[in-house]
Amino acid sequence: MEFTLIDRIRERTAQGRDDVRLGIGDDAALLAVPAGQELAVSIDTLVEGVHFPIGTAAADIGWKSLAVNLSDLAAMGATPAWALLALTLPSADPAFIDGFATGFAQLAQSYRLALVGGDTTRGAFTVSVAVHGFVPPGKALTRAGAQAGDAILVTGTLGDAAAGLRLVQSGNSGIDLRSALLLERLNRPTPRVAAGLALRGHASACIDVSDGLLADLGHLCAASHVGAEIEAPLLPRSSALLDLFDEAASRDFALSGGDDYELCFTLPVQHVAAVQADLARIGCGATKIGRVVEGSGVSVRDADGRWLEPVHRGWDHFGA
Ligand code: ADP
Ligand code: MG
Repeated sequence: MEFTLIDRIRERTAQGRDDVRLGIGDDAALLAVPAGQELAVSIDTLVEGVHFPIGTAAADIGWKSLAVNLSDLAAMGATPAWALLALTLPSADPAFIDGFATGFAQLAQSYRLALVGGDTTRGAFTVSVAVHGFVPPGKALTRAGAQAGDAILVTGTLGDAAAGLRLVQSGNSGIDLRSALLLERLNRPTPRVAAGLALRGHASACIDVSDGLLADLGHLCAASHVGAEIEAPLLPRSSALLDLFDEAASRDFALSGGDDYELCFTLPVQHVAAVQADLARIGCGATKIGRVVEGSGVSVRDADGRWLEPVHRGWDHFGA
C-alpha cells in the first residue's frame, strides 16, 4: 500500500538533475553538493487546522508545504535544489495523494527542485518538508547584521493571506475577484527565491515573513541586537485588502497576520534605490517601511506620528 502511494508521488515529481546520484527508492538518497558551495537546509511542518484551514484543496496543501520551505531558503539567499517529504495521513487516499503531488510538483518545477525521498506513515494529517539549497561560502543572508541607521524594506504586499484566512473562517470567501486574490495568497504563496538571490551582497540582514511582520522583524532585530521603527502608513497593502477591509483591520493584518512569505530585509539607506531597481527588474516590488535604530524591539508609528499599540504581535504556537 505504502509503495503505490510513493510511486504516485515519484511519478508526479520526477525531475532530472545530475546532482541526484540516487533519488527515491533506496534507503537513502545520494546527493552531490556542487564544489565550493555551502548547503542550506531547512524543515517546516504543516498541521491541518493550524497551517491551513480544514477543507483546503489537496493541490494547495502540496504547493504550500513546499512554498513555506522555499521561503526559508529565499530568506537565506540560497538556490533551491532538493527536498524530502514526510507525510502522515489518516488513510491511503490516492486522489488526495495525486492532488497533493500535483500541487507540490507545480511549484517544484519552477525551480527544477528534485524530491529525493521521504517517509509515509499513517496517523493524524501532517506534512513535513525539508529543503536543501546552495549558497556560495559566506554569502548567505542571515537575521544578524542589521545596523542602526539601515533602512527596513519588505517585498510585495503584507496582510493578504491573513485577510484570506479571515474570509474563509467567516464563510465570506465568495466568488469575487478580490476574495480570490486574497485566497490565492493564503493557499498558493509565492516564495521570494529570486529576490533572495538578488539581495545577496546587498542586504545587511533578511528574514521571511511567515508569522507576521512584527514577530519576524522582532526576530531579525534580536539577532542583530538592534531595534526597529516602522511607519504604518508605508506598509504595502494590496488593493484587494484595502477594498475588502477597513483601515484598522488591514493595518492589523499587515502588521501581525501570518503566511505572507514576503522578505523583510535591511540595508544601508544609500543603497535603497539601486536595490529596489534590481528587484523591479525581476518583477518584485520592495517598499521602505522604516528604519533600524539602536536599542531593541519593534515600534510602529501612525500617520500622525503617534505610537501604535498593535492588537496582535504575530503567531506564536505556544503563546498564551
Ligand atoms: P525505509 O523503510 O527504508 O525507510 P520507505 O518504505 O520508508 O523505506 O521508503 C522507500 C523509499 O521511498 C525511500 O527512498 C524513501 O525516501 C521514499 N519515500 C517514502 N515516502 C516518501 C514520500 N512521501 N515522498 C517521497 N519519497 C518517499
Ligand atoms: Mg522510511
